[in-house]
Amino acid sequence: MHPGHGAHLGRRDPADTTGAPGDRQATEAATLEQITELSSWQDRLWGEARRSLLVVLQGMDASGKDGTIKHVFRGVNPQGVRVCAFKVPTPAEVAHDFLWRVHREAPAAGEIGIFNRSHYEDVLAVRVHRLVPEDVWQGRYRDIVAFERMLHRGGTTVVKLLLHISYREQGRRLAERLHDPDKGWKLERSDFLERSHWDEYQVAFEDALTRTSTSEAPWYVVPAEHKWFRNWAVIEILLQALRVLDPRYPPAPPPEEFADVLDEPSAGPDPVR
Ligand code: AMP
Ligand code: MG
Repeated sequence: MHPGHGAHLGRRDPADTTGAPGDRQATEAATLEQITELSSWQDRLWGEARRSLLVVLQGMDASGKDGTIKHVFRGVNPQGVRVCAFKVPTPAEVAHDFLWRVHREAPAAGEIGIFNRSHYEDVLAVRVHRLVPEDVWQGRYRDIVAFERMLHRGGTTVVKLLLHISYREQGRRLAERLHDPDKGWKLERSDFLERSHWDEYQVAFEDALTRTSTSEAPWYVVPAEHKWFRNWAVIEILLQALRVLDPRYPPAPPPEEFADVLDEPSAGPDPVR
């Protein structure tokens, strides 16, 4: 999304596959290569240990946030990645400002942080369910922009992804969960209650994206109806961000620096006797 432009969600096709390297099979093959590249960037980011990447995932229920995390990050070293799922706030969290619980989960230097939902719930669910007065959530867009700008200045690249599906597709996926013994555990009554607020959510997303897409923390609307395309597109966006970041391993110190602590510099590991 270009900062300063409307999100125009209604005009975006959630089943779009424009830009994919080919059909499903070809795209899945390309995704395997992307996963290798992602893993190598992550290793450098971790080794460099100076900057970080924050991936914010938003979307309606069943839009594929969990599946995206499972597939996109399957090649990375778990040591350098932290996933945080934001649920209905606890009493302690509600008693603080809305960014309190979010800031402490921001990725440390070297890490990739993944937010499964985020501070955006405070202008989405909170708005739709009228949990605070309008002037309170309206004021939060500016707070969010300032917060993300602060993260960016501190060395965090912020990438925000909306997984875009249609009302029909959500209905199909929820029904599938209802009838698939391996997926039923994911269903909650609230999924159907939230679904009845679909139009209000679309308006809330439209405003949130339009008001908070900045050059420091841009929003990307990912057509998410085809999971193979979604995975490819998400990794592509992350790769683009990492190529720009271009993390580097710190240079190895010259061997002379270790001369006094090495017992036999040229001997290599002890042979097993
Ligand atoms: P799930 O991601 O399916 O486990 O569901 C988490 C639920 O928590 C969703 O219905 C969110 O809308 C809700 N939630 C997350 N953050 C907030 C928040 N700050 N205020 C209200 N509801 C929230
Ligand atoms: Mg859920």
